[in-house]
Amino acid sequence: MDPREQWSGNVLDRARGALIGCAFGDALGAGYEFTYPAPSDEIGMIGGGIGPFAPGEWTDDTSMAIAVARAAHSGLDLRAAAGLDAVAAGFLDWLRSEPKDIGNQTARVLHEAGPDAASMARRASAITGLKGGNGSLMRTAAIGLAYLHDPEGCADAAALVSDLTHDDERAREACQIWSSAIRHAVLTGTLDGARAYLDGVAGSTRSYWSPLFDQAETGSPADFASNGWVVHALQTAWWAITTTDAGAPTHAHEAMERAVRAGRDTDTTAAITGMLVGARWGASSLPDDLVAMLHGWPGLTAVDLGDLAEGIVASTR
Ligand SMILES: [Mg+2]
Repeated sequence: MDPREQWSGNVLDRARGALIGCAFGDALGAGYEFTYPAPSDEIGMIGGGIGPFAPGEWTDDTSMAIAVARAAHSGLDLRAAAGLDAVAAGFLDWLRSEPKDIGNQTARVLHEAGPDAASMARRASAITGLKGGNGSLMRTAAIGLAYLHDPEGCADAAALVSDLTHDDERAREACQIWSSAIRHAVLTGTLDGARAYLDGVAGSTRSYWSPLFDQAETGSPADFASNGWVVHALQTAWWAITTTDAGAPTHAHEAMERAVRAGRDTDTTAAITGMLVGARWGASSLPDDLVAMLHGWPGLTAVDLGDLAEGIVASTR
């Protein structure tokens, strides 16, 4: 039996949507990074930005998510040394491609890390100054797909993959929340997973994050304007998701556009938004003409991302 047959077509479409949604938001936001689009501006797949990127080209967010996805696709457990070593090797492979854009914190770690996960995480914990960038949250699209049967495994893997480059409690927690939400969305087709995860974790984590989710639902981007910080990036994504029409079939695209309109780190906030709304609504909910434009390192297209996602689900834990 094809191992994918244990899952319905809807689950597979939503799994494809997690990775393709990440790339969609990333490429949509790429042309607007560090700007604040006016309300009258149309948001298009225009390319440009600080790459400059081609229209439809994804950036570091999706490329790093692909490195994680490929390790999961090979059947390795991302909680084990071999799985984390494969992720670390994927990051370094991408670094050697001389990417057009790389986050400051990630660059400081990758340029001086050894070839394995343990040395990469050691390097991450040795850097000083601000360490809570959004660079680990932006690459979480595939982690939930690898643990559809195992919610604890999903959260543990999310933490360990975050720790490779981001030695920060809030970054780790954000990756756990979002990976759990994506896992839940793929399984159920709902957006309930983030709050459900918080309901089940230690009180200190819940009491930190729950008010921030409340604020995102009722506030405005000015309340979480430093969205290069993982906490404000997650809030921007949650704001974009919960202040657009969550009952409309066009919700995924609209939420990503809204994330771009919040401004600043637009590719990353839209990628974070896109991986969850893509997992909720499925790849088939996204406009075909724009999905067909998606491409990027390492020479992949949206079809390849979807196949990668299905392959992970076929061997999910
Ligand atoms: Mg980027």
